[in-house]
Amino acid sequence: MTPGVTPLVAGNWKMNGTAASLDEIRDVCAGLDAESTLPHETLLCVPSTLIERAAGVAAESALAIGAEDCHEKESGAHTGDVSAEMIADAGAKSVIVGHSERRTDHGETDAIVQAKAAAAWRAGLTAIICVGETREEREAGKAQDVVGTQISGSVPDGMKADTTVIAYEPVWAIGTGLVPSSDDIAAMHAFIREPMASRFGEEGSLVRILYGGSVKPGNAAEIFAIPHVDGGLIGGASLKAADFLAICEGIGS
Ligand code: PEP
Repeated sequence: MTPGVTPLVAGNWKMNGTAASLDEIRDVCAGLDAESTLPHETLLCVPSTLIERAAGVAAESALAIGAEDCHEKESGAHTGDVSAEMIADAGAKSVIVGHSERRTDHGETDAIVQAKAAAAWRAGLTAIICVGETREEREAGKAQDVVGTQISGSVPDGMKADTTVIAYEPVWAIGTGLVPSSDDIAAMHAFIREPMASRFGEEGSLVRILYGGSVKPGNAAEIFAIPHVDGGLIGGASLKAADFLAICEGIGS
């Protein structure tokens, strides 16, 4: 954990969830609120269709609701897209940008991700900027080069630690049950910190760097204990309240 930062446990529901899933959010809120103090902030990023209802369920609780993507423009002729302003209006506090599934499925470049992060800030949201290498890139010894390039191209100028989170998510670890070694996670997080601190000074020293990729109740405590890991971005295991709460408990242990 980086000294002086409050860790974050963030969920990413991806393209999952309907009205029936709001019960899981109710259970997460109840579980968080049963704790007298929480050593972490907690966020669930849900599909756009659920933001407003999820935010209603989570109002007055320790859980914040976020979105999974936004368009970089404020409004206009972009059929099917939602802007950061629309997401904020619906009750989101944060938005994931540059998730590898968007980079792959929608051809999002670092420049697009950077514009989306700036749009998030414009709308008063925290931008969770995702980076991570593919298996081929890691095997070719290029993981740091790839992530370094993503960091320099995806993080806009003027970055502030209280409205930005970096999520290191090796693509090959997402949804596969594979997790890098603790040494590899620690090394990549330390590597990401360097350009952030040299470019943004104290803001870069304090920005949270999360690990994401196959975090589960059974490995969360071990992952959160790795040096330079300031919390996690959780996909599949955030869909069930019991699993997500068990992962949150890994922060305190
Ligand atoms: C993700 O998609 O952000 C993610 C980390 O997924 P999973 O936890 O399912 O690997």
